[in-house]
Amino acid sequence: DPARMEKIVSLCKRRGFIFQSAEIYGGLNGCWDYGPMGVELKRNLKEYWWRKNVQEREDVVGMDGSILTHNSVLVASGHVGGFSDPMCDCLLTKERLRADQVPAQSGMGFFYTGAAKKDGSWNIEKKYSVLVESEKQADKARKTAAQYYAQLAGKDASYKDMELKGECMETVTDSTMYNPANGSLLTEAREFNLMFKTTIGATSDENDPNATGWLRPETAQSIFCQYKNILDSSRVKLPFGIAQIGKSFRNEINPRNFTFRSREFEQMEIEYFCRPEDGLRLVDEWLEHRLCFYDEVGVPREHIHILDVPDGERAFYSKKTYDLEYEFPFGIQELEGIAYRTDYDLSCHQKGSGRPLEYFDEETREKFIPHVVEPSAGCDRTILAIICEAYDEEELVDDKGKKDVRTVLRFVPRMAPIKAAIFPLLKKNGEQVRIAREIEKTLQPWMSVFYDETGAVGRRYRRQDEVGTPFCITVDFETLGENDASLKGTVTIRHRDSMKQERVAIEDLLHWLIARIR
Ligand code: ATP
Repeated sequence: DPARMEKIVSLCKRRGFIFQSAEIYGGLNGCWDYGPMGVELKRNLKEYWWRKNVQEREDVVGMDGSILTHNSVLVASGHVGGFSDPMCDCLLTKERLRADQVPAQSGMGFFYTGAAKKDGSWNIEKKYSVLVESEKQADKARKTAAQYYAQLAGKDASYKDMELKGECMETVTDSTMYNPANGSLLTEAREFNLMFKTTIGATSDENDPNATGWLRPETAQSIFCQYKNILDSSRVKLPFGIAQIGKSFRNEINPRNFTFRSREFEQMEIEYFCRPEDGLRLVDEWLEHRLCFYDEVGVPREHIHILDVPDGERAFYSKKTYDLEYEFPFGIQELEGIAYRTDYDLSCHQKGSGRPLEYFDEETREKFIPHVVEPSAGCDRTILAIICEAYDEEELVDDKGKKDVRTVLRFVPRMAPIKAAIFPLLKKNGEQVRIAREIEKTLQPWMSVFYDETGAVGRRYRRQDEVGTPFCITVDFETLGENDASLKGTVTIRHRDSMKQERVAIEDLLHWLIARIR
């Protein structure tokens, strides 16, 4: 549903979740900045992931590796040679597309030049194509193809020369042809390496191999490279995992779908090392852990599709891979990959570095290269899924029967950027303001809170609904004991989802909230 996606993107900008990078300069394609609300949401996600996967597990330790990566690391891992996507160009619009991103429904204007052979078949000299995103734009494709054809043929060509056949167009003139039997639509695909290369140090030669470095395309490689140091410096024994959260960079051919496919993004990865005989069992265990995690951050498992990647589509070294896919408004797309990668990675680095990376099993006195199960999640993609899942427009009818629509982000409280908003009912009431400020100071060390005293309280609630604040605390006349002495020292708590209100004693507030936001 593109309309829903548009609304989400617009809310993200309007309320300070996500902005395009360098927007005032026209934008940097494929890069995004998280604003005041977005950064809190992202921190909540990363902290919860860390808590669940590192702090609450005895068998997983963490690390934080450098982003600049040694050339030899990525040569050994195979990235320098093969971390690429097939790319096609449109000869007319000069647009570059990842071959598998070309939408099946795309409209396309294309024509071939060549000569008819005596047997009636065609000798193709060149293929030209114009790609457009949808059939609606087919006319644009037709026009561009016609213009280009005219330029090429040195004569006028008009739409009349072309016929629309199904979703595609073809030119039908004497000198151009289309062979339906040979109906491939793309310029030839070629491999495009997705890594960002850089030079390290004050060298004058940017091709000096000793000065070549890369921005890492995944966090995993520094885990493999430090596997031995971590084994020797901590008391881990197989099976154990090393976890890392951090930025990765890929020069994606065609960044698209908001933050879904970016050139700079954050990953949350675990390399879980194990004995070879345990790999297949552990990949299933991790699948279950990860589904629980998504549930707990507000992406219910009913909305996640588990793709058991079939033989022939997995990486050649992987014995089992699950892709977890989410129903984004723009389609069902990958959130996370969980792959049993055998001993491929450590073997590559043992070979590349010449250093032994075996594990010595004290019980069996055996030496072997551990196998690894890798749950690899995208932080930005998860954030996007959480926002898409939380976005809601609720129709309300007031006492007088008047209809209204409330926009609300129904984040699970542990993910909400602001846990509680604190309002004095009346800005002019000094005592209410004093108590509200006192509550703010008490809660601040424990959670992110927001103080607001401007406008009618109903409007203040709505502003918090739009950023997903689960609880609004209002200091009112009852707090001061003015209407009912028994309510003195209590505040009104308004719940975001039900809009119901209840009274809680100020002295119980901290515990009341902590029990609901962890
Ligand atoms: P895709 O097929 O969508 O390009 P991938 O299979 O190449 O993804 P992996 O290499 O398995 O992705 O990376 C692990 C995770 O990192 C992905 O599941 C995704 O959540 C995240 N990720 C990868 N590339 C990007 C990107 N360009 N933008 C945002 N997140 C990404």
